[in-house]
Amino acid sequence: MIELDASHRMVEEPDAVQEITPAFRLENVSFRYSETADALCSVSVQIMPAESVAIVGANGSGKSTLLKILGGLAFPTSGRFEAFGSKIDAVSFHHPEFAHQFRRRLGVVFQNSDSQLFCPTVRDELAFGPLHMDLPVGQVERRIAEVAALMELEHLLDRPPYHLSGGEKKKVAIASILTIAPDAILLDEPTNGLDPRTQQWLTEFLRRLNQAGKTIVVATHDLYLVSHISSRAVVLNEAHSIEKIGPASEILQDSGLLARVNLIHEHV
Ligand code: ADP
Ligand code: MG
Repeated sequence: MIELDASHRMVEEPDAVQEITPAFRLENVSFRYSETADALCSVSVQIMPAESVAIVGANGSGKSTLLKILGGLAFPTSGRFEAFGSKIDAVSFHHPEFAHQFRRRLGVVFQNSDSQLFCPTVRDELAFGPLHMDLPVGQVERRIAEVAALMELEHLLDRPPYHLSGGEKKKVAIASILTIAPDAILLDEPTNGLDPRTQQWLTEFLRRLNQAGKTIVVATHDLYLVSHISSRAVVLNEAHSIEKIGPASEILQDSGLLARVNLIHEHV
């Protein structure tokens, strides 16, 4: 309920404020691949629905590991991870229906498109996700047509993915995730290895996806990408913990911070 206060400004009563459930919430999440080597140390961060967040840091700082945890592809060694308001761990994934619901709400685009694409044709690649959601064939075909048009992939639909260029493979990998219509899209080093024009196309495309309401999380050391698509950045240091979380524009201007975490040369 909105009321006027003594100074005749409009004030909202506290009970009118609705809590928004974060898309992702990590609380003191640590991860190790083996007993001896930490990959993430006590990471706490929240990502809200429709946010565009970059995870930045030097090679080996833990960006890909953090993205794997957000995508439910690895579970924290300790700490708590929640996605869309539910706790995610190995136990919750024992329930096939829960795992299924989680998987249809987000898509992960791997750094290496070859490890993502496995179907005989691009069309099959785009059909794979929605067919596994048990959608009727007509609806699957409609989604393929829509996404292929959006990404200008129509002329490639009958081609085998392994014959495509790196940029085309990246587009197909993203398209194969868009056909499941996820709420959140997680991308690991999406611009790596792409030519400048394709990089620019992808940057603009991710910006439009975010404007359309998708939660976008990129793990990247491409600061151009961060400056164009991300409202916030999570900076990981070489000790695998959070150095800073803040507005991307502020972080990109903090050359001391970027040099400290080994993202730019000291003398820049
Ligand atoms: P980034 O993506 O920032 O380069 P990663 O998340 O890939 O960093 O790696 C974080 C740390 O975990 C590094 O020390 C890396 O060597 C280690 N690591 C990554 N993947 C594996 C793996 N599959 N097995 C063992 N150690 C790994
Ligand atoms: Mg990585």
